[in-house]
Amino acid sequence: MLKDAIDDLYKEFPYTYSLKYSGKFKPFRANVKLMGDHIEFGLSRRWKRISKDIQIGLIQELLLKIMKKRLKPLKTETYHIELYNFFMKKIHIAVPKDSIDPVLEESFDRVNAEYFYGLLDKTNLKWGNGSLSKLGSYEYGTDTITISRVLDDVPLEILDYIMYHEMLHKKHKFTKRGSRSYHHTSAFKKDERGFRDSELIEKRLRRLLIKKRLSFRNLARELF
Ligand SMILES: [Zn+2]
Repeated sequence: MLKDAIDDLYKEFPYTYSLKYSGKFKPFRANVKLMGDHIEFGLSRRWKRISKDIQIGLIQELLLKIMKKRLKPLKTETYHIELYNFFMKKIHIAVPKDSIDPVLEESFDRVNAEYFYGLLDKTNLKWGNGSLSKLGSYEYGTDTITISRVLDDVPLEILDYIMYHEMLHKKHKFTKRGSRSYHHTSAFKKDERGFRDSELIEKRLRRLLIKKRLSFRNLARELF
């Protein structure tokens, strides 16, 4: 399988390679490491039962990423990569929903009812660490929206606004151009502005983050 993936992309390939399926990864995670002249692919065990054609696409995506600037590929788009991306956009259907925080679920449901006609399928929902710079994220492979802990005491419309942004990622998925994926497309941004009072909320959010940053600093000063 690795050889098929490589032959399709490179005329000559001066590296050795190996593949390991691991139970340590979350479902549908994967990574790639280059050690000297050896490339090691690590795939979550869940990948084992997935069609070889789709796995080849995943391997090729990882290859293009790690070989960038090292080895020029014959092409950056392949049938297998297309298949893999199609699979990743549909994978949320197969991912178990076993990690749903009740507070975030209320937010999800409010936003879903108001902006998605209640049609967006529930994702896993969890609180992340208290990052002030990354307020939320959506991960396709685990179908999980993660919201920063710093938002656990803010007005609900601000929490909902961040939730809305992440839900839009699930709705819009991503667009591929060459080997790059685009997540914040113009269609995405247009939708994002559709949130009620979005400009006002952006301003309130910015003010709030400045305040939080200051109080963190004061806290640090008190402690040390
Ligand atoms: Zn985003």
